[in-house]
Amino acid sequence: MDAIIYRIGDLIAAQFLPTHSLGVYAVSCLAGFRHHARTAAAQSLKIKGLGRPSSGFAGMGAISAFDYHRLLKYHYECGIAAPAVGKSLEWLPSTPYIEGMQMWNCVTCGRGAFSRLAIQIASCRKLMITPWFEEYLVRSRKELAARPCELTPSQVSASYNRAIVKARDCLACQFVAHHALNTFRTFYIKEVKKAIAKASSLSMINLNLT
Ligand SMILES: [Zn+2]
Repeated sequence: MDAIIYRIGDLIAAQFLPTHSLGVYAVSCLAGFRHHARTAAAQSLKIKGLGRPSSGFAGMGAISAFDYHRLLKYHYECGIAAPAVGKSLEWLPSTPYIEGMQMWNCVTCGRGAFSRLAIQIASCRKLMITPWFEEYLVRSRKELAARPCELTPSQVSASYNRAIVKARDCLACQFVAHHALNTFRTFYIKEVKKAIAKASSLSMINLNLT
């Protein structure tokens, strides 16, 4: 009998997880399918601003406040871990190519600006970053706080578009910012994914979803 029940859980998860992750979470909590609850919780990271009153879902009324609290806490904790990646870029590989990237080497950008932010780049040292890249980091971190999943920096977002537009203010950056930002994002996405995986694993242990 247990095998049949678990098989039903597998079928529900396979069919509804991509489009109704919160519903799968609710059913899984009720039925005690912890592994499906875990997978559905991870899928819920793609939902921007989970926890706002507009994020009600089918099955919400059937689960306990504790199960809902666990889901929100998980989303919140991943929403702290993912944006932290952009605070310091020490995780970038220490290669001449990385060290020579436009966003921390432009001498024209922001000239005359009172101060430019200096952050750790790879293992070399703190370098001053261009205003357009600083704005990208600030905005993308906010996006990641609301939607902590690797899709957020992968997709062309408001932060990306704004950085490209702002880079046009600099004669030296305007033609290379696009390529430089895309290169940076390949590393950024991987690091965000790692940070979320680490936070997920800690959070799920704490929330007894393992
Ligand atoms: Zn520049």
